[in-house]
Amino acid sequence: MKEFQKTYNLYNGVKIPKVGFGTWQIKSGDEAYNSVLTALKNGYKHIDTALAYGNEKSVGRAIRDSKIKREEIFVTTKLPAEIKTYQEAEIAFIESINNLGLDYIDLYLIHAPWPWSEIGKDCSNGNVQVYKVLEKYYKLGKIKAIGVSNFSPNDIENIIKNNKIKPMVNQIDYFIGFSHEDTIKYCKENDIFIEAYSPLGTGYLLSNADIKKIADKYNVSSAQLALRYLLQKGVAPLPKSTHEERIIQNTQLDFEIKEADMHYLESIKNDPRKWG
Ligand code: NAP
Repeated sequence: MKEFQKTYNLYNGVKIPKVGFGTWQIKSGDEAYNSVLTALKNGYKHIDTALAYGNEKSVGRAIRDSKIKREEIFVTTKLPAEIKTYQEAEIAFIESINNLGLDYIDLYLIHAPWPWSEIGKDCSNGNVQVYKVLEKYYKLGKIKAIGVSNFSPNDIENIIKNNKIKPMVNQIDYFIGFSHEDTIKYCKENDIFIEAYSPLGTGYLLSNADIKKIADKYNVSSAQLALRYLLQKGVAPLPKSTHEERIIQNTQLDFEIKEADMHYLESIKNDPRKWG
């Protein structure tokens, strides 16, 4: 089996395929439908979307049309960051599951601890309230695993203290040159699995000469090196592409980055999004 199709285990026993297909900024309609279908055709078994991406209907149609058995595909969607009341969260969850046209969701996440227009705002109580909706549908079997995204250790502590079920996943931005070390350490210690979003720095890290130099050593692209780096860190990268050749390339990760090169890549500390 190719590395990208292997799975990690969440603490509740659910298996999550190592590489997920990201769908942020893929337009609803043909673009999202074709990209997801292309990914599934090329062996991806893990799709990441969100109500906020506006493409769940197209993603769901592609999943159904792929004819792959439902239980073989791992589907993640997310509760919009702006929603912080129980009632609105329940409506949003039902909207997502209907949009996708699926009987259950594999992983449902709170998209962020604060609305995107108010990053850093204290929504502790709202997060506890909306998380109760995740717990309700998890217990009903409509969600196989629940979690959070963009949560700091304090945000997660608040959930653990005031809710019943510990999150299984935290999805955070993580790529060569950028990571939240305190959050990663906290999640590892608490058996909360890390998914790495923007594993290619939304494309920006691909023009970095230092990364390219290491990629050349292994005869792979910078994108492949960046994804393999995250696999060796034990997390699940979620690369996005609308081009078939790149969708395929991002699955070819069966090589090993040597320890010395891993250390070198870890030492690249700039946020590639600020490189220019
Ligand atoms: P990304 O996967 O880091 O990078 C995507 C960019 O890289 C696109 O411009 C893509 O171009 C290009 N690309 C992909 N593969 C390539 C390759 N092999 N060679 C050259 N260029 C390549 O971007 P992202 O969308 O920021 O992050 C990935 C996923 O993470 C999202 O789609 C979403 O599912 C998730 N995410 C979650 C959050 C959150 O708050 N939870 C936030 C951001 C992202 P083309 O598409 O033109 O090929």
